[in-house]
Amino acid sequence: MAGQTNAFEMAQQQFDHVAGLLRLDPQVAEILRWPMREFHFRIPVRMDDGSIRIFEGFRVQHNDARGPNKGGIRFHPAETVDTVRALAFWMTWKCATADLPLGGGKGGVIVDPATLSTSEKERLCRGYIDVMWRNLGPRIDVPAPDVGTTPQMMGWMMDEYSKLVGQYTPGVITGKPLGGGGSLGRTEATGYGVIYAVREAMRHLGMDPAKSVAAIQGFGNVAQYAAIGFTEMLGGKVVCVSYWDRDDKCSYTVSKPDGINPRFLMSITDQYGSINKAKASAEGYSIEDGSEWIGKEADVLIPAALEGQINGETVRRVHPRVRLVAEGANGPTTPEADEVFNKNGVFVIPDFLCNAGGVTVSYFESVQNDMNYYWTKEETLSRLDTKMTIAFHGVLDMSLKENTCMRDAAYMVAIDRVVKAMQLRGWV
Ligand code: NAD
Repeated sequence: MAGQTNAFEMAQQQFDHVAGLLRLDPQVAEILRWPMREFHFRIPVRMDDGSIRIFEGFRVQHNDARGPNKGGIRFHPAETVDTVRALAFWMTWKCATADLPLGGGKGGVIVDPATLSTSEKERLCRGYIDVMWRNLGPRIDVPAPDVGTTPQMMGWMMDEYSKLVGQYTPGVITGKPLGGGGSLGRTEATGYGVIYAVREAMRHLGMDPAKSVAAIQGFGNVAQYAAIGFTEMLGGKVVCVSYWDRDDKCSYTVSKPDGINPRFLMSITDQYGSINKAKASAEGYSIEDGSEWIGKEADVLIPAALEGQINGETVRRVHPRVRLVAEGANGPTTPEADEVFNKNGVFVIPDFLCNAGGVTVSYFESVQNDMNYYWTKEETLSRLDTKMTIAFHGVLDMSLKENTCMRDAAYMVAIDRVVKAMQLRGWV
């Protein structure tokens, strides 16, 4: 999905590096380097004009030693099986790092959802479940939204699954709409989770959040709530966000040196994430090239769009003031860029720790579905804060003990937990 970067090769490189540090048994490493199961399929969909269009879909189940596979479904025109593999792989480590009793899965469909009508989207979502339902379920594999998919789509998918199995089964999918089995706090979860991790990192680094400046890439679900959290919870300043403009087919950075107002920008963002440039300009925002976000003079960078965005090339543009990188997106930093950050003493909160808030509240959602009893938003977010804080400190402790960067430490925590589960179950 991100130009030349093969996300799965990058994920395997990260894993091999840590497997070496841990002196992991090569046979155990070989199990973990690859998904346990993969589904590649084609979904026929009746279009509004009566024609049939065939969409290519994937579901990858990386490892379910610790519990049912868990992971979103992406609708993206440049989706590839390797992207889905990488994301499923990271889900295993993410759930283990956050100590959730879940494994790693991910799904995708090659489609630009913006080109479909609402009823075509509904038929595609139902079609995905019609193909996959025997291999999904609250105790098997639980999908959720990701890039290009929405709570409404999860509602359709849950409905289709419930019809096929003959009983209301809200726990088959998370990220559902409120009132349709969804959890309060799920919308904010990933972005706020990023900010809970940033808060703990700043405490560790001795940074004053109220005097800190952040530059954010993306302005979707994760970026929006990270921007709100950074300004409203931490009292810091966000100088820019960026987004992909569907009409102009390019990305823009929307910036304001004295601080953006994320709630205003949300109010002028359409459902596909395009910001109304005229309205933003009228309020004093500058509209710059999409790549500008990375060079901003900031203390914190929050890449929250796509993978491979901070790479060997773009890392050179990072301002020397940057001390902290909080990976809201999955896989935004390539190993070459990671090396530069490590050399320059930039503290990176790795993706599968930093953005674990989404899957944590997804897990809370399935717990609530099982209980058929729903928590308040405050209860959900406070439990999320506790989980994120414990996860952050577990990784920080490992990083201090082993004298490694946070990414390697997160892999160490996660691999250890997954290998233990495989041993306990007698797999290895
Ligand atoms: P989203 O679809 O809501 O937002 C994606 C954002 O990225 C949009 O603002 C889009 O305009 C922007 N974008 C796309 N291409 C861009 C480009 N080339 N330059 C700049 N901006 C660009 O998706 P999201 O849910 O916010 O997810 C963002 C990232 O976070 C993804 O990597 C996703 O896998 C990861 N993530 C999401 C969640 C979640 O709960 N939503 C949880 C964990 C990880």
